[in-house]
Amino acid sequence: MRRQLLSVAGFTRATAAVAATLALTARAAPVDTGPDTAEPGSIEEIARDTTEARFLSPWVSYLPASASVPSPRAFLHRIPGAPGELANTETAAAYLRALAGASPRVRFFTIGRSEEGRDIVMVAIADEAGIAELDRLRAATAALADPRRTDPAAAEKLIASARPVYYLNAGTHSDESGSTESMLELAYRLAVSEQPMIRRIRENTVVLINPVLNADGRDKFVDWFYRYLKGKTDLATLPRMSPPYWSKYAYVDINRDTHQVTHEATKALNRMFFDWHPTVVHDLHESIALLMTWNGTGPYNPNVDPLTFDEMLELSFHEVQTMTGFGMPGVWTWNFGESFSELYVDSVAMNHNAIGRGYETFGNGTAETITHVAGSGLPELSPESLTPEWYRPLPPPSETFTWSARDNLNYNETGVLSALDAVAVQSKALLRNFYLKGYHSWRKGVEQPPYAIVIPDGQGDRLRVAQMVQRLMRQHIEVQRATAPLALKEGSFPAGTYVVRLDQPYRNYAIDLLLPQDYPKDKGAPYDDVSWELPANYHLEVVKTADASVRTAALELLAQPPQPSGGVAGAGPVYLLRDTGQESLLEARYRLARFQVSIAELGFSAGGADYPAGSWIIKDQPGLAEAVRAVAQDLALDFARVTQAPAVASHDARPPRLGVWVPWADTDSIGWVRYSLDQRHIPYSYVRDEDIRAGHLRDRYDVLLYGHVDLELAEQIHGIPKSWGPMPFKKTAQSPSFGTPAESDDITGGIGWAGLQQIQDFVEGGGLMVTLGSGTVLALEGGIVRGVRRDSGGPPRSAAGTGGAAAESALDAETRTPGSHLRVSFARPQHPIAYGYPARTHVFRQNYPLYALPRQSLQMAYCTGCLDRPYDLSSIVLEWGDREGAPLLVSGQVWGPAGLVGRPAILDMPEGRGHVIAFNFNPFHRDLNRGDQRMVWNALLNWQSILRGTPAAGPAKPATEAGAGAQP
Ligand SMILES: [Zn+2]
Repeated sequence: MRRQLLSVAGFTRATAAVAATLALTARAAPVDTGPDTAEPGSIEEIARDTTEARFLSPWVSYLPASASVPSPRAFLHRIPGAPGELANTETAAAYLRALAGASPRVRFFTIGRSEEGRDIVMVAIADEAGIAELDRLRAATAALADPRRTDPAAAEKLIASARPVYYLNAGTHSDESGSTESMLELAYRLAVSEQPMIRRIRENTVVLINPVLNADGRDKFVDWFYRYLKGKTDLATLPRMSPPYWSKYAYVDINRDTHQVTHEATKALNRMFFDWHPTVVHDLHESIALLMTWNGTGPYNPNVDPLTFDEMLELSFHEVQTMTGFGMPGVWTWNFGESFSELYVDSVAMNHNAIGRGYETFGNGTAETITHVAGSGLPELSPESLTPEWYRPLPPPSETFTWSARDNLNYNETGVLSALDAVAVQSKALLRNFYLKGYHSWRKGVEQPPYAIVIPDGQGDRLRVAQMVQRLMRQHIEVQRATAPLALKEGSFPAGTYVVRLDQPYRNYAIDLLLPQDYPKDKGAPYDDVSWELPANYHLEVVKTADASVRTAALELLAQPPQPSGGVAGAGPVYLLRDTGQESLLEARYRLARFQVSIAELGFSAGGADYPAGSWIIKDQPGLAEAVRAVAQDLALDFARVTQAPAVASHDARPPRLGVWVPWADTDSIGWVRYSLDQRHIPYSYVRDEDIRAGHLRDRYDVLLYGHVDLELAEQIHGIPKSWGPMPFKKTAQSPSFGTPAESDDITGGIGWAGLQQIQDFVEGGGLMVTLGSGTVLALEGGIVRGVRRDSGGPPRSAAGTGGAAAESALDAETRTPGSHLRVSFARPQHPIAYGYPARTHVFRQNYPLYALPRQSLQMAYCTGCLDRPYDLSSIVLEWGDREGAPLLVSGQVWGPAGLVGRPAILDMPEGRGHVIAFNFNPFHRDLNRGDQRMVWNALLNWQSILRGTPAAGPAKPATEAGAGAQP
């Protein structure tokens, strides 16, 4: 009875559809499929593979029969979501191709190609008229996306005959494997069912379905499933449930590529978005029981139109209501994430005036059926997620229950159908909102300052300026270039200056990307980064202008990203390159690898110009002139030729043999290191755990780079439990997708104690090890170098030199920097890592362990009368905080800043004949913080100088006294 009392404001037609199908809910009774005829056998198989009646909805309890269109059951010889089976990328695409070949309501598209060469595909589904008119419909949404060319009256006319496009994205995270299966079935159902609701969806919308966004990852996971997981149903004894790689670079981070668009999957999605201007982009994930429809609890991104959050809530509550009405437990919304950071796959919509949505369904992590025992501690079924709440009226089961892949599919597909119907019912309102959001964004740029954001060219690295401009253009943010000098209230800028005028439909996103973030400190914990400001990431300055005359200035719209180039000036046998912080110096060094290059350790003057420390001095050598010219041209570097080498202390800078260690237990963050190196054509050896164990590291590498890993110390050493081994990751007939980008006879066991010994030998024998982010845990807490304790942060003991952090910190129980830009100061401005940087700068930091100031040595806990040795501050190269008192925070948010200020951000610690350079941040965060990368490039460029310990450690600095006093 309760179900019939449902009142769904604004969804009257959908409610009617729910009511019409309520008669079908009793599974004991025969399923009434009218006006469809069920494909014979489909009702029974779906019922068989659904573990409980309450986990099924009438909408997905049968497959409609079709005389002319192949069903997925006919194609796969099983129902989608059958236990123990998964379709790979090729099979999924082949089915959708067959569907499109047989149905005039389906059209097939290839929208990209993965790094490993797999097609990324999509189908469009609508009624016959819609499919015939796809070009017109696409032109209509494109016109609605730009209010400058479509005034409100014209928009109303367009809306009358336009349709919202609803894009569904499956298979982003490869071990969340159910969505691909559910989208194959959904595509078929939408194409052939004659249910009134399905017809309404077909007639009022265009549905786009991408069955596998991460094509390489899908195939690796499917191979993994059949090799290691098939037939295993006991959660307690399941081995590692996912291959070490999905796509070539990122792992989970594949859905954190929205601002940067580096992966082929993201590029395909972006192309799709600007081809179709979908009203909704919906990404399908699996984690929490049983279906969480994303909303975010706030804080909300101030640069996303508020209408979007209303639309998200409305669609989500419609899903909760519909499925709760069916009696399906565990469908909820709201209490997940925050909606401040829009950096996920669906965020391409949020950032461009459309709606980004997502589900987390309960996936089991395998295609097998699993019994979840009550109280067994599964985080997805924690007690706090099992209570009835306003946002979760019918919670997931709190008792033991059994869950299957088909159950997961039933939830996924039912939820999506209810969302599609909600969109079909209010298609015109949603199109109008889409137009309005672009209109609001544009009008803000017309009516209120800032009217433009000016990006001065040059800034020490024209290439980096161009790269940031390119990143904006990739997001369809229009960038102009001054064709004459630009005089504004805020200052004068030469011709060639870049200008982002804000009277454009993506003004809000331009603001979000180009100005600092301010995450509210008193709101809930963020889900991910809280800063993505591009100028902070690129170490560039931009200028907001409140001068409206910028709109009538001589500006030219850029059609192509700028391609700056450099050159060689002057004459003489010595080439000089001024270090102005260029990010391309490491690439330049490898391109000039066969030549001898010296790097100045102090500033000097030559040919009437000043050169800072870090500048290059190259004496003429056979073939050099040509090579330098090419490097200057390609990497926008300006060389000067002079007659005489300057008399300045300098060191030889031979490019190192670089090894990049990637533990099998976590390849995600280091994938971004590999990406950055590949983009810059830096040669390196991929170092596996077994390569570390095999030893002789000094024979093979000069520098061992160990990036950030999300692993505890024990996991960094011992890796994937050996008890699961051996687990080969090699290409075989049964696992053709394995073995890339690296292969192994056994990915379990990590480097082990034996490998740790090899790393110790490498360092002590004269190697340079560079550790980033939590990779530094291995160096400092694994004992490769000694004298640095993990610190709890906590309140400061001294306020001196903390830039007001003391008072602020009193409010914060702990120090947290969940992806923020923070100020730092060089404690050793003469150190090679400082080359190209001012003495005070900033870097990006996520939550990494906090470390105390280094001491000469530490005493043991049971030694009650003896004391830790005095501080040895000589190893601190860079410290957290600004020595002249500017606040720690540049963009994002920081809690408990006093737990950081004065503590080491980069340590250079000698050990034996080698050194460890330990970063307390990650300069390779998702290819965003490019301005931080030069610090690593500096370590690589100057590795021999660092090993020699030259230049000598600078004098102890006054500011550390405050830090020293702050220690227990
Ligand atoms: Zn996911």
